[in-house]
Amino acid sequence: MDVTFFNSKVYDKQFFVEENKRFGHKLNFLEVPLNEKTVLLAREAEAVCIFVNDIADSKVLQQLAKAGTKLVALRCAGFNNVDLKAAADLGLKVVRVPAYSPYAVAEHTLALILTLNRKTHRAYNRVREGNFSLNGLMGFDLHGRTVGLIGVGKIGLVTARILKGFGCTVLAYDVRESAEAQEIGVEYTSLEQLYQRSDIISLHCPLTPQTYHLINDYAIASMKDGVMLINTSRGAIIDSRAVIKGLKSEKIGYLGLDVYEEEGDLFFEDLSNKVIQDDVFVRLLSFNNVLITGHQAFFTTDAMQGITRVTLQNISDFEEGKPLVNEVLP
Ligand code: NAD
Repeated sequence: MDVTFFNSKVYDKQFFVEENKRFGHKLNFLEVPLNEKTVLLAREAEAVCIFVNDIADSKVLQQLAKAGTKLVALRCAGFNNVDLKAAADLGLKVVRVPAYSPYAVAEHTLALILTLNRKTHRAYNRVREGNFSLNGLMGFDLHGRTVGLIGVGKIGLVTARILKGFGCTVLAYDVRESAEAQEIGVEYTSLEQLYQRSDIISLHCPLTPQTYHLINDYAIASMKDGVMLINTSRGAIIDSRAVIKGLKSEKIGYLGLDVYEEEGDLFFEDLSNKVIQDDVFVRLLSFNNVLITGHQAFFTTDAMQGITRVTLQNISDFEEGKPLVNEVLP
């Protein structure tokens, strides 16, 4: 099948070309993101393969359908960037990779927590400069601390297991309670209770109309003073302006982000010779208790292999008229 990739990077090409030896699709790699301006570059491909920040709104989908595209294959789990209703109306199928490595994201969550807490990023620079002073590097024991997880699906559950290993009390808020989580000692609470009791709060729910700006002024006001807030899920679950206020008032003691609500204009690109125009993002970068990574939580060889295999299998299933086990419906 003819597949046009948008937003593809060197590593995407490397993994997909290798795995495609087993599938035999015709892959066309474009570096540009999918949006209204670039959609024509799909050039009648039967399938387009897109990533987290590609824009598949109704205008883009209409153009794709008009040119003969039949399948939108997301090479990621989240699908908040696709207008699913418009896709269904146009007869376009949408598939995704619901699970590849929950360990990759959960382990990155811990990397953010541990780095913010023990300030290893600052220690690394100090020691290289011959500065062995410990001033400003004091952390706290994770053992015995309370961590609140918002969303305990695949990633939240792995995160809970790791945190249990550290000796943390794990609280959770989710619209669906999981017996597996309860078995390992996760305690479900109301959102309000979670905000009040947690030393660390980590987000693992999807971005939906219900979770958009869930972490706002009101939520932050209910949290413990000096709380650590971690987001490896989707940027817009956090109201960035509210978080900046929380950091300035020291209500928020630590912030770890792998995602940012306006990341589409920034992440996955080398902008080191450009001036960043997003003043909110630059303000976030200016706090020394804020650690930002550029949507890399998924980025392990294990996860990339899983993403590649499932994406190509999804495309083959569509081509062969098999049931689409990973279809996303409105
Ligand atoms: P999942 O579907 O297994 O789990 C999501 C959980 O969130 C479910 O238990 C669901 O019931 C819960 N949920 C849904 N709406 C909620 C709400 N309003 N309030 C509280 N909980 C709610 O998904 P997953 O595989 O664990 O992934 C979670 C999120 O992580 C994805 O939606 C995606 O946005 C993000 N993600 C990020 C990266 C990255 O590289 N940073 C990689 C993969 C996934």
